[in-house]
Amino acid sequence: MSANSVSLAYLVAALLFILALKGLSSPVSARRGNVFGMVGMAIAVITTMTITDNWVYISLAIIVGGAVGAVVARRIQMTAMPELVAAMHSLVGLAAVLIAMSSFYIAQHGVALHLSNRIELFIGTFIGAITFTGSIVAFGKLSGKLGNKPLRFAGQHWVNLALGLVMIGFGIAFSISPGWTPFLIMTVIALALGFLLIMPIGGADMPVVVSMLNSYSGWAAAGIGFTLNNNMLIIAGSLVGSSGAILSYIMCKAMNRAFLNVILGGFGGGEGAVAEAGDGVQKTYRSGSAEDAAFMMGNADSVIIVPGYGLAVARAQHAINEMSKMLTEKGIKVRYAIHPVAGRMPGHMNVLLAEAEVPYDQVVEMDEINNEFADTDVVLVIGANDVVNPAAKTDPNSPIYGMPILEAHKARTVLIVKRSMAAGYAGLDNDLFYLDKSMMVFGDAKKVVEDIIKSLQH
Ligand code: NDP
Repeated sequence: MSANSVSLAYLVAALLFILALKGLSSPVSARRGNVFGMVGMAIAVITTMTITDNWVYISLAIIVGGAVGAVVARRIQMTAMPELVAAMHSLVGLAAVLIAMSSFYIAQHGVALHLSNRIELFIGTFIGAITFTGSIVAFGKLSGKLGNKPLRFAGQHWVNLALGLVMIGFGIAFSISPGWTPFLIMTVIALALGFLLIMPIGGADMPVVVSMLNSYSGWAAAGIGFTLNNNMLIIAGSLVGSSGAILSYIMCKAMNRAFLNVILGGFGGGEGAVAEAGDGVQKTYRSGSAEDAAFMMGNADSVIIVPGYGLAVARAQHAINEMSKMLTEKGIKVRYAIHPVAGRMPGHMNVLLAEAEVPYDQVVEMDEINNEFADTDVVLVIGANDVVNPAAKTDPNSPIYGMPILEAHKARTVLIVKRSMAAGYAGLDNDLFYLDKSMMVFGDAKKVVEDIIKSLQH
């Protein structure tokens, strides 16, 4: 392929990637977005194969990697998605480091690297190394293998700062006079930094960290793109880098977390989210059966369903869709209220509801639906907790104070489906459960909804 044709093909692939990101911003266009992304990637890979002599090795790698990816994708549970994403980012980071090492090795035995190339190599390597170990820690925390608690020690930030400066020092030394010693020392320090930066971050901030590491992995790829003189890698890396950064910002805003607190590994303390549940005061709550819940919803004019993490755990999305169809057929207005951080990853609830083929016009985002709760007869909170906790609005001492919530407490009746009075992700008690207008319906979300459906049928 001529250089011009390669540039043109890369340009088309880049445009398709941009269309993919645009498509993925809404559940309605997400499938189309995915198709754009796949076609773009196919064009990028095929074009790259035409400009290399190593297409046999590349094909083998694609076959092996593709097979592993297909098996993992089929087996993975939706609730384990964030840890899988973290594991994948670690591979991107590792790939960036390995590409940098091989580029340097090739340069030593062939065309020498310019100063600018050496600086790019240094940047790509350290971002890749931080992404690699940081993502492994994120994977360990999200999967519960490393415990959820932040690991902190006195003077941690100073140690990180000192290590960062030493790493930059070796990076400069490598850029001025390239050699394996400064390169490897710099890489080892960056690997340690990835570990030290992510260990102090608490479980509640972990999904933001995953999105941030996603961003880092993009920048690492872009850095390597400069080294390899590959425009496609630069563009794709920058798209991943900037979209990951924007997503991290949106998530921080939705959780009322300061972006800097999260990225600097617990500066100012991220410990609020792991506060103890309960304040020692005995409170009373009302509980009822699935039949009671069916009776209340069956006699309502309007119902808002608030899905949360428990809906994903119970895989109750199909049952809830069947239930809402029955209510709609009775002439009851049914909507789903979506909080931006409900579940464990951005868009988690949208994906689940789309999988169950819930009509998109019933799915309403928080800002749009919040002023409708006061006029709603029944709210069914199903497997959600933190995203409807009124303490976020009323208790300045609460760790989630300031986080926007779905204002379910304003509805005439609130039904809460969960297995116990246990706290949600933030580890906090929820006053919504103790309101006079609230009724707990204890049980697994799917089982309760199936029982509600049986009652509605009668
Ligand atoms: P929560 O984690 O606050 O609560 C989920 C509730 O579901 C629990 O209280 C649990 O209670 C219940 N539950 C669990 N399993 C089941 C089941 N099988 N059947 C019925 N209920 C069940 O979830 P929310 O969605 O309300 O809030 C999300 C939290 O995650 C927020 O704190 C948010 O900040 C955090 N987070 C989310 C991110 C995202 O991107 N979505 C990113 C970062 C953090 P019980 O055990 O009694 O059943």
